[in-house]
Amino acid sequence: TVTRLAPFATTIFAEMSQLAATHDAINLGQGFPDTDGPQAMLDAARGAIAEGHNQYPPGPGIPALRQAVADHQLRCYGLEYDPASEILITVGATEAIAGSLVGLVEAGDEVVMIEPYYDAYAAATAMAGGVRRTVPLVADGDGFVLDRDALANAITDATRVLIVNSPHNPTGTVLGDDDLGAIARACIDHDVIVISDEVYEHLVFDGRAHTTIAALPGMRERTLRISSAAKTFNVTGWKVGWVSGPADLVAAARTAKQFMSYVGSGPFQPAIAVALNTEMDWVRESCASLSAKRDLISGALRDAGFGVHRTEGTFFVCADPRPLGYTDGEQFCRDLPARVGVAAVPVSAFVDHPEPWAHLVRFAFAKRDEVLLEGVERLRRLQ
Ligand code: PMP
Ligand code: GLN
Repeated sequence: TVTRLAPFATTIFAEMSQLAATHDAINLGQGFPDTDGPQAMLDAARGAIAEGHNQYPPGPGIPALRQAVADHQLRCYGLEYDPASEILITVGATEAIAGSLVGLVEAGDEVVMIEPYYDAYAAATAMAGGVRRTVPLVADGDGFVLDRDALANAITDATRVLIVNSPHNPTGTVLGDDDLGAIARACIDHDVIVISDEVYEHLVFDGRAHTTIAALPGMRERTLRISSAAKTFNVTGWKVGWVSGPADLVAAARTAKQFMSYVGSGPFQPAIAVALNTEMDWVRESCASLSAKRDLISGALRDAGFGVHRTEGTFFVCADPRPLGYTDGEQFCRDLPARVGVAAVPVSAFVDHPEPWAHLVRFAFAKRDEVLLEGVERLRRLQ
């Protein structure tokens, strides 16, 4: 393996899912739902296969899906994108992230990301030959906010791209308009491109609305907005994602993407178009159900003796096992499947600076209630 990719030999998700399988544990590590998405979408995929949509789709994605993505962003955020030149369908958000970075970052350019960061940002930055810089979240009550001083120091004229992720994996933080505004101003001042990973855009709780940084003044022209069907429609295995932005930035991502996968997910593309066009009520119900699961697991973890952080969006909750006598989150997660039959993910897998994250662990709660209840019942045995 080349030196720049050596740190990325395994992913924490694969590792912990493997441990979960070995010990027949309840997998609250890797984030994926355990129920299916809307019936009309599933039927549309079956129909697409039956009707012979089984060959290469067009490079930028099928027109019906690009149109559905454009309509969806206009409806939700008032953002207008031309489906012909400003939207690209990708093999999940993962390829949208990698394609954007490989297409836009010159060797040695700096890429700023919020720490903790989703692991793919670091790996794709390395593939692009970029240099990673991080801006930490800091504790604010039982939640997190951006460290604004660190933001001001991290963004310089050497910065090419800043990656925003809100709602945020792994902490479940929804960045406030003040934090998004500070990021936007810094990026405008230093002529920085923003890659905004919004795969959890529809999983925001407590009546809050999702804000996309692309809709802030001066930001549409410098933002690649990324989302995916995976978490919105419970189809993490279908790998349908998209990136929207000004034509020149989308063209850069497309240049890289066409030699990564060329195209993908043929019969699933029309099914996701159906989902975006007709199934947003299903999504609202799914979000309400996840909010109830957030309450269930947060309360149960507290009862089991954990410190529990506030989850504002996503389907992750971060918990502190120190009150139970465990100070090392990674060791805790390595032992947990064998000890009580539950898998989780250490937040240390998403950071460059272990302090103050080394103790924290992430639980994914997009699971059926009986699975969650059995999981937390098992966690009680740690006391
Ligand atoms: N970004 C974030 C923040 C994620 O949590 C994930 C995992 N769903 C992805 C990107 C990757 O999305 P996809 O599965 O669509 O590639
Ligand atoms: N996004 C999922 C998570 O954060 C995992 C995706 C993956 O396994 N790469 O758990």
